Amino acid sequence: MARLKKQGYAGIQGAGALSSSRLRKRFPLEAWGNLDQILGHECKIDEVRQLIDRHRLQRTACHILRIAMLMMLAACSKPAKPIAGADVDYWTCTMHPSVHSETPGKCPICGMDLVPVTRRKEVSSKPGEFMVPIQRQQQIGVTYTEVRRRHMQFDIRSVGTLEADQAQVFDCVARVDGYVEGLQVTSPGERVRSGQPLMTIYSPDLRAPEQELANLLKVQVNGSVTPASMEPLIEAARRRLLLLNVDPSEISELERTGQLTDRLVVRSAVDGVVSEVPIRIGMGVKPGDKLVTVLDVSNLWLWANFYENEVGLLREGHPVTVSLPALPDHPFEGKIAVLSPSIDPVKRTAMARINIPNSDGQLRPGMFANVIAHIDAGKGLTIPSDAVLPTGLRMVAFVDRGSGRLQPRFIQVGRQFVDLTDPNQESYYEVTGGLREGERVVSSANFLIDAEAQVQGALRDFGVEQR
Ligand SMILES: [Zn+2]
Repeated sequence: MARLKKQGYAGIQGAGALSSSRLRKRFPLEAWGNLDQILGHECKIDEVRQLIDRHRLQRTACHILRIAMLMMLAACSKPAKPIAGADVDYWTCTMHPSVHSETPGKCPICGMDLVPVTRRKEVSSKPGEFMVPIQRQQQIGVTYTEVRRRHMQFDIRSVGTLEADQAQVFDCVARVDGYVEGLQVTSPGERVRSGQPLMTIYSPDLRAPEQELANLLKVQVNGSVTPASMEPLIEAARRRLLLLNVDPSEISELERTGQLTDRLVVRSAVDGVVSEVPIRIGMGVKPGDKLVTVLDVSNLWLWANFYENEVGLLREGHPVTVSLPALPDHPFEGKIAVLSPSIDPVKRTAMARINIPNSDGQLRPGMFANVIAHIDAGKGLTIPSDAVLPTGLRMVAFVDRGSGRLQPRFIQVGRQFVDLTDPNQESYYEVTGGLREGERVVSSANFLIDAEAQVQGALRDFGVEQR
């Protein structure tokens, strides 16, 4: 090799230093054996050049011979098969596809016989439609579904917090002046029963009305006036004591024994839970002071928030199911009692009050709850959710026009719902516009179809013929 370089071979090639492998690559000679032989000996550069030239000549001759044979074959062979005139779209040259001729003949450029181009068998697509051959549809797994009427049932979900029923909150208020002498309940959370003593108040205010009742009864018993004429006065005196929070049992006791007392026993009006005890023993109280608050928790309120687009589906009295993370296995049934007429401007929700019976006392105010309202929207036109392709603002469905033709169509959909009767719990959209009952739409491989449509649309835009 070094000897070859020395003799200027590399310079002739103009490629700098040539290695043996690069030389072989450049000139794939069948006679490399010869060259090796030559190189192995003290060869002259003219000998190598001659060898290369000879190889080139051989190769060119070979090509000419091959082309000639091909042309002879083409001339001898008959047309592959006769094509019906009706199927032929136009005639063209295989070497010059720009040649379009109505009739058979010779290529004006190269003189070769023109070949027929047949029409596509499929019906060409109309504007707004595109073509995905059936075979291709099968390859990408396209399936169809029919637009049909279904019973539309779905759930609306919300969350809320349990609260005490405000109609069942009993504030025990002082109706006399006095001092707290004894407390039977001291802290929130204590359970009390109706009529159970809560506290004792010392109040000299009780003396006068008690004395009045006792005197009236004495007059009635003495018989100096008719008993009937005394009755309204006695009833008024009883009522005065009742309004001072004296228990009816104590009034009866007073009437029986005539024994006056200046101690008022305050009793619970309901069965419930003490929620507040703002007083202590020894504190002075005045009429209007709050003594004890008792909650009746046999019925609770749940305030749930529903979005403004859901509120229209709800009405007062609508049954709902309430489940609590605290009691996961125990769903509660309730009803919407109140639906707020206004929407919260920040949260964009409307409040709904649900009354939940709590006879066993398992529920507690403050608990977090999930709310499910079951909506039955009747029958409507539907398609599976998979058949709808969201494109931002609008929804698209691909309608089957037969023979592989598909039409993308903007549709209007309503609510999404789950077919509760379907074991697969398939999700559907209500169709409010754009589709008719019985039309077939693509229900799977929508994205692939969309891609196909976009590619075809783009090709059409570029003026490429769809063939
Ligand atoms: Zn041609």
